[in-house]
Amino acid sequence: MTIAIIGAGLGGLALARVLHVHGIEAVVHEREASRDARGQGGMLDIHSGQRALREAGLIDPFFAIARGEGQDMRLLEPDGTLLFQEDTPDGAPLDRPEVDRADLRNLLLDSLPEHTVRWGQAFTSASTEEGLLHFADGSSAPYDLLVGADGAQSRVRALLTAARPVHIGQNVVEVGIPDIDRTHPDLAAMLGRGNYWVLGNGMSLAAQRNGDGRVRIGISFYDTAEDWFAASGIPFDDPAAARARLIDLLPGWDSRFTALIAACDDTIVPRPIFALPAGLTWPSTPGVTLVGDAAHLMPPVGEGANMALLDGALLGLALAAHPDDFPAAVEEYEREMFERTGAAARMSARMQELLTSPDAARKMLAFFQG
Ligand SMILES: Cc1cc2nc3c(=O)[nH]c(=O)nc-3n(C[C@H](O)[C@H](O)[C@H](O)COP(=O)(O)OP(=O)(O)OC[C@H]3O[C@@H](n4cnc5c(N)ncnc54)[C@H](O)[C@@H]3O)c2cc1C
Repeated sequence: MTIAIIGAGLGGLALARVLHVHGIEAVVHEREASRDARGQGGMLDIHSGQRALREAGLIDPFFAIARGEGQDMRLLEPDGTLLFQEDTPDGAPLDRPEVDRADLRNLLLDSLPEHTVRWGQAFTSASTEEGLLHFADGSSAPYDLLVGADGAQSRVRALLTAARPVHIGQNVVEVGIPDIDRTHPDLAAMLGRGNYWVLGNGMSLAAQRNGDGRVRIGISFYDTAEDWFAASGIPFDDPAAARARLIDLLPGWDSRFTALIAACDDTIVPRPIFALPAGLTWPSTPGVTLVGDAAHLMPPVGEGANMALLDGALLGLALAAHPDDFPAAVEEYEREMFERTGAAARMSARMQELLTSPDAARKMLAFFQG
């Protein structure tokens, strides 16, 4: 029986690894040409997903690459008022450590037999009756169970549901400061070792220190339309002018925050944010299922990677428990996954609502204190 996984992201790799631990080999078809073909972005905070790494036999190497001090948090209002500061004591439990996404992905990739991932195979369609997958390069491959782990813009999803991600009224501009300790020690001290959030006035600035010394900064504009970037007046092809325009878009914000933006380098990325409807389900269909963002793309408030890891691990365990009955395994997995990820998506939607409110920082403070 061939298990074909589309996508070598966290969900697909967690599935392949847990299957491998249980003596079942799967094939992962990934559209990127190699593991380094594309930057993997910044840090992830991993909490409930730690269970998946335990099932994958990787919890100790995970703790070796995780950054406990990344749990530090500072929360401020746009006028500069510091509302909350928490610094992680040395030796504190790694409940929500930060990990570099590329490091976590490499940990999973290195734990698999060499030819598990077939790079450069972009899935285009499946002939479900013949059990054949088709790829953009004209090749095809057989399968008995097809698992879509192909992320937010999943192509496999269409085999199960007509649902599509919709814009959630948030547009993010991503900027960053490289090697901040050396280039801007004053700003480095202000930001601290972990997360630094400024919330309010329908906007937010979230800065986070990465393992390589770069600080990644996301400036979010809430209650904005999908075409907001075009009307925003941010000239993305002229980084210096784009930084100046970003500062104009934050009237009344404390000069320390605008200094942060002025210190950024020329990498400026617009990122509109989409999500699937919370609690999305589909009738269980033998031969195909989904894990991760393909199944339940959520607002980016810290659940997606954890859910993707758990999906992969729990589907792997269900398949290992029913090696002769994949449909029963898929049904068991989907029942639990719909409930767990539906709850996470509703919680993420509530958090998203909080972020959009005019007094978001005070509400977030109450949330932390509660
Ligand atoms: C800025 C940002 C910050 C985030 N921070 C956090 C956080 O702190 N904590 C958290 O839990 N979550 C976080 N998330 C969410 C998290 O990144 C995702 O939920 C998670 O990566 C989903 O994993 P996945 O395996 O489902 O998909 P992905 O990681 O997107 O992997 C999908 C893979 O499928 C491949 N693929 C796509 N289409 C095809 C195709 N047709 N054929 C073959 N391969 C294909 C892609 O190349 C990719 O490798 C964040 C998201 C963003 C955008």
